[in-house]
Amino acid sequence: MGNASSIEPTKTIFLDIDGKKEKIMFSRHCGSRDIHDLIAHAAGVSRYAEISLKDSAGAFVSLNPTMPINTQSSPYKVTSKEPSPTTGDGEVFTQVLSQVASQFNNHFSKEGVFKVEEMKTDIATRLSALERKMELEGLKAVEIEKCKRDISDIKDQIWNAQKKFVDFNRLSNETHTDSRDTHIMNRKQTLSTYRKYTLSQETIEYLKQPTFDIWHWEPNEMLSLLEHMFHELGLVAEFNINPITLKRFFLCVQENYRNNPFHNFRHCFCVTQMMYGMIHLCHLWEVMTREDLGILMTACVCHDLDHPGYNNTYQINARTELAIRYNDISPLENHHCAVAFKILSNPECNIFANVDKDTFKRIRAGITMLILATDMARHGEIMDNFKMKLEPEFDYKNKDSLDTLKMVLIKCCDISNEVRPMEVSEPWVDCLLEEYFNQSDREKMEGLPVAPFMDRDKVTKPTAQIGFIKFVLIPMFETVAKLFPVIDSTMVEPLRIARDRYEDMKEKNSMPPPPSQSNKKKTVTEK
Ligand code: 5GP
Ligand code: MN
Repeated sequence: MGNASSIEPTKTIFLDIDGKKEKIMFSRHCGSRDIHDLIAHAAGVSRYAEISLKDSAGAFVSLNPTMPINTQSSPYKVTSKEPSPTTGDGEVFTQVLSQVASQFNNHFSKEGVFKVEEMKTDIATRLSALERKMELEGLKAVEIEKCKRDISDIKDQIWNAQKKFVDFNRLSNETHTDSRDTHIMNRKQTLSTYRKYTLSQETIEYLKQPTFDIWHWEPNEMLSLLEHMFHELGLVAEFNINPITLKRFFLCVQENYRNNPFHNFRHCFCVTQMMYGMIHLCHLWEVMTREDLGILMTACVCHDLDHPGYNNTYQINARTELAIRYNDISPLENHHCAVAFKILSNPECNIFANVDKDTFKRIRAGITMLILATDMARHGEIMDNFKMKLEPEFDYKNKDSLDTLKMVLIKCCDISNEVRPMEVSEPWVDCLLEEYFNQSDREKMEGLPVAPFMDRDKVTKPTAQIGFIKFVLIPMFETVAKLFPVIDSTMVEPLRIARDRYEDMKEKNSMPPPPSQSNKKKTVTEK
C-alpha cells in the first residue's frame, strides 16, 4: 500500500534563500512544524516567521513530510515574513477584539444591577489579558486559534448573561438570522489568498488511505486537497464545474465552519477524506454513478456547517432559536443543510450551476437526505434499515437500498476518527471532550440536564471511547464489511486495536497506587 511505509527514511530538499543555495534534510517522522523550523533556521529568521516555498513554476509547495522532493538545480524559492501584530491578520484580529469589547459594553450598560458587575470584571480582565498578550508576543498562528476560541467563549458568556435578563417568552430578535445570511452571501471571496499547492505523487496516493495524517495540513492545504479529490473523482467533469467556482465554494464552506474544538473545518476535511478513502477502497464507482459520488462527497463537505459547538439535546433543552425553528427535529442537521444550500444559492459558489433542473433536484434531495442522516439519534433506525436491505442479497439497482447504503457510508465517515492510526485519532478525543465539557459546564450554569457522557466529573478518555467503539463503531463497520470485505482489514481491524488499547488504558487508570505508597498506608491502618 502506498502510504507512510513507502516514504523514504530521509528526504533532502534544496532551497534558494535570496539567491543563497541551502539544503535541509529530514526524516519521515518529522512534523510539518519541524520542517518549518528547519527552513526558518536556514533562512536566518525566527521560528514564528511565516514561510512560503515556491517551485520553479511559481506554485506553492506545502511543508510536510510527504512534500515533493526537488533537485539541486531546481531549488524551492523561500520567502519569509516575521509576524507583526499591526499587519494583516493582526489588524483584523484587533478589530474583532474591539468589536467584542464594544458589544460587551452595549449589552451590559443596559442591565445595571444583578451579578453583572462581577461578570463584567471577569470578562474585562480576560479581554485585556488577550490584548496584552497580542501586544507582547505578536501573533502566532496557533495562538490566533486559541484567542478566537476565547473570544467565542466570551461572546457565549455575554449571550448567557443577557439571556438571564431578557424575558425568554419574548422570542428574541437577537437570532442572528439576518447577519448570518449576510455572512453567507456577502463573503468577500479572497481567492488571492487561496494558494495553489503542488501535490506530490506520494501525497496523492496517501490521500486515498484511512491512514492519512490529517493533522499535517493547514487550512489552505486542506482546501487544495479537497479540490484535488473533486477533480480526481471526475466530479468536476461530471457536473461541468467551473474550477474557480469550486475554489470559491470550498472557501465559503471553510468560512462557515466555526472554530469549535471538535466541530470545525478540520473535522469536515476528515469526514470528506474518509469518504474519499472509502470510495477508493470499495471501488464505489463500480456500484454507483458519478452523481451519487458527488452527492456523497458534497454532503460530507457540508455536513456540520455552522455547528455552534452545542448538540441537539442542548438546543432542545435550552429552547434555542434553532430548536424553535426546526420544532426540535434534528435542529442542527437541518441547519447544516440549510446553510449548505444557502451557500449554493449564491451563483458564485454554486458548483451545481451547470446541471439541468432535474439533476439539481436529485442532488438537493440526496445531499439533504445524507446530512439529515448524520443525526446520531437516528442511528438505530438507519442501521436496522440497512441490515434488512442486506437480506437475502443487496440490490444496488434498488433506489431505497442504495440510499440506505449512502446514509450508512456518511455515518461511517462522520464518526470514523478511531479508524485512523492512534497518533491521528487520539487528539480528536481531547477535542471532543473539550467540546462536551464546554457544553456540560454551560448546562450546569443554566440549570439544564447534563448527560453523564459529557460530564467532566464522570467521563475519561478510555470510558468515552470503549463503549462507542464496541457498541457503535465495530458493529456498524462489520455490517458494511459484509458488502465490502476490504473494510474488515482496513477499518474494523484498526477499531479492534483501538478498543484494546483503550481497555488497557482504563485498566492502568484504575490500578491501585504504586506498592510503596499502598504499603505505607497499610502499615498506618494496621497500627
Ligand atoms: P457529528 O455529526 O456531531 O460530527 O457526529 C455525531 C456524534 O457522534 C458526535 O457529536 C459525537 O457525539 C459522536 N462521536 C463522534 N466521534 C466520536 C468518538 O470518537 N467518540 C465518542 N464517544 N463519540 C463520538
Ligand atoms: Mn460530523
